[in-house]
Amino acid sequence: MKNIRLKEGKERSLQRRHPWVFESAIAKGAADPGETVRVESHDGQFLAWAAFSPASRIKARVWSFDEGQRIDAAFIGQLIEKSIAARQLFDIQSDGMRLVHGESDGLPGLIVDRYADTLVAQFTSCGTERFKQDIADALLRATGLTRLYERSDASVRALEGLPEVKGWLRGEGPVELQIREHDWQMSLHIAEGHKTGFYLDQRDSRQRFAAHTRHRRYQKVLNCFCYTGGFTVAALAGGAGHVTSIDSSAPALERAQANVVLNGFDLSRTTFIDADVNASLRAFIDRGEMFDAIVLDPPKFAPTAAHADRAARAYKDINRLAFKLLVPGGELFTYSCSGGISADLFHKIVASAGMDAGVDGFISERLQGAPDHPMTVLFPEGEYLKGLVVVKKL
Ligand code: SAH
Repeated sequence: MKNIRLKEGKERSLQRRHPWVFESAIAKGAADPGETVRVESHDGQFLAWAAFSPASRIKARVWSFDEGQRIDAAFIGQLIEKSIAARQLFDIQSDGMRLVHGESDGLPGLIVDRYADTLVAQFTSCGTERFKQDIADALLRATGLTRLYERSDASVRALEGLPEVKGWLRGEGPVELQIREHDWQMSLHIAEGHKTGFYLDQRDSRQRFAAHTRHRRYQKVLNCFCYTGGFTVAALAGGAGHVTSIDSSAPALERAQANVVLNGFDLSRTTFIDADVNASLRAFIDRGEMFDAIVLDPPKFAPTAAHADRAARAYKDINRLAFKLLVPGGELFTYSCSGGISADLFHKIVASAGMDAGVDGFISERLQGAPDHPMTVLFPEGEYLKGLVVVKKL
């Protein structure tokens, strides 16, 4: 067993049960990709068992803080079982859900989503890569399913020195699937879609949006960054008169339209625009068009805190434009899924957008990712998705 010795004073974060060891904390020691190492303090005290990542700035990710724990296939299998069992603790109104959410489930670098009877997994750390076959077996055992597709084509794999991989890992079957979410159906593509195919993390927000639309009887809704139409279908299900949806991805828009039809809604209640959101919002302002409700769910502008400044300007810009496009009393559902933008900073960005637009509003709700994308007490980095519902003052 290889040892990784930390510099003096660098053991504190592990003692607080934070699962990452940064390059800068290490005094000496190295191992092969994914190899289990014993992480110790400067004076040789055991701190954790971890998986080593030679190429990454996060040099080791913790498997266990218990010195007596053996890190083997049986142990990883137990983590998978616990993670899946934990989903019973949450209220998930869908047969599409996240079964494993990385660090929050004690499995750093592993994402597993379930879409009806198909599993999709993403391995983004050397440790999970090394146990890939054991993880695949454990997933099938714990779910009783037979099909597992691998979507390890995320760019973060490069940071770990891992090649991109995509394809069936166990069994095979259709890559175009359908899930039920709340009162509607959504189709998705596990091989070509973003992430593992669908933004499961916005499930609860889509339900809130449907409920608000019903309650306020919205006639004109604008869904920006609509992807495959999650919020579009939610608005139609809530009785919206007309929904305009914008995205810059043609395949996403095609599927969004298909999802409208799949749910039995008339396409005449919708407009789909293949364009840049910022440019479209400016065009609406020029034309004097207004909306009763607007969703802003942009992609990750700030993957890390280092990108926060530029991202803040981009968030502020679209929020400022959206405020201008709302009728008095209209509602803005605005989000950031950037790990590098805290909830507090996001609130300040939206405030400064309101200031620039000359608009005030009531913050009626704070939103976060659905509970199957949990954040935990000991791993605050797990918080990435945050949203605000703002009602423009009369
Ligand atoms: N709200 C969606 C998820 C949005 S993901 C849901 O509930 O499923 C972000 C989307 O923004 C992606 O579909 C991406 O294609 C789109 N996008 C990224 N940059 C864009 C831009 N500048 N203009 C328009 N769409 C953009």
